[in-house]
Amino acid sequence: MRICRFNRDRLGLVSADGEYLIDVSEALEQLPSLNWPLVHGDPLFAHLAELVPAIISVAEGKPRIPINSVRLESPVATPSKIIAAPVNYQKHLDEANADAGINFGVEQKTIADYGLFLKAASALVGPADGVVLPPLDRRIDHELELAVIIGKPGRHIEQANAFDHVAGYAIGLDMTIRGLEDRSWRKSFESFAVLGPWIATKDEIADPGALDMLLTLDGEVRQRANTRDLVWNIPKLIEYASATYTLYPGDIILTGTPEGVAPVSPGDIMVCSIGGIGAMKVAVRVA
Ligand code: MN
Repeated sequence: MRICRFNRDRLGLVSADGEYLIDVSEALEQLPSLNWPLVHGDPLFAHLAELVPAIISVAEGKPRIPINSVRLESPVATPSKIIAAPVNYQKHLDEANADAGINFGVEQKTIADYGLFLKAASALVGPADGVVLPPLDRRIDHELELAVIIGKPGRHIEQANAFDHVAGYAIGLDMTIRGLEDRSWRKSFESFAVLGPWIATKDEIADPGALDMLLTLDGEVRQRANTRDLVWNIPKLIEYASATYTLYPGDIILTGTPEGVAPVSPGDIMVCSIGGIGAMKVAVRVA
């Protein structure tokens, strides 16, 4: 199943070819009402398994809407956190160490040295929102990444059980200011976490460790890779992250970027695709 958020918080069931959606927002009425204090996480992903029958029955007989006629928003609305993996592809580590524009003269070490980092949850946007560059005279790069969305909460999750906690997958962009400040600052500007175009539930993806990834910018190939080259694979990332924090429904794990990171400019259009998920177009503008 492919599920999107569109046109100001409507819920969409997306066709297998990614060309159409059906508005299944009525299914959201099945979500329990919220009371203070709110629990961590995104209620849609906390209750997705229970909602699936309602999504299917609501969709029956409803019109198909062309995807390119709607405004695609982040399929996760309120994650408790966005967890991200630094230098999780060897060739990206190599390019960082070969390019002072990326590393600012500081030798980059490995993910085992750095561990994971967090991006502000408020940085999250969808493809239609686009990336808004802050008014800073700094290099700002795209980082295409496979995003893992947590379904079942958990702490101290073992690698063997890691996929029990996954709801699905999406395409992520970990937008980044290059420099020496802490990653959590450089990567947390508003709109610096793009998620879309929808969630492909985990049953749709036979092997998330073998997905082709492609980012083109104004038609030119910038990043082309495959998730088989992840240094820490998804079970390892979930084990490590959940040893640190409780993972809540809707939490997003950005699994790391492959080689080919490069600066963006106002007016650029990034087209990002990941095999088995789909593709999304993301525009870059200034504030
Ligand atoms: Mn990254």
